Amino acid sequence: MNCPKCHSSRFVKNGHTHYGKQRFRCQVCGRQFVPNPSRQLISQETRDLIDQLLKERLSLAAIARVAEVWERWLQDYVNQKYYLTPKTDHYYAGLPILHPDDNQTFVA
Ligand SMILES: [Zn+2]
Repeated sequence: MNCPKCHSSRFVKNGHTHYGKQRFRCQVCGRQFVPNPSRQLISQETRDLIDQLLKERLSLAAIARVAEVWERWLQDYVNQKYYLTPKTDHYYAGLPILHPDDNQTFVA
């Protein structure tokens, strides 16, 4: 793990983000960063977990918290799954599907 700005490996813990991720501050350049950016590739393990939670009909907000992914990413993921899944699949039949371009926040 290195500072995204100056690539130094000298940093100190600097609190947490709103999403509960550990945040660090580079001691060299002062840049604050989170080691695992939210736009990282979501692991297959996490996707499997999300699939399970979707079947439990948890709200997207709850799933995002449990799986530690961003709701925005989760919405896209669900949308994608929905489009790839036959409409007769009851797992997703009850889920509100947002248009990918729809920026409104979904409230369960
Ligand atoms: Zn730095």
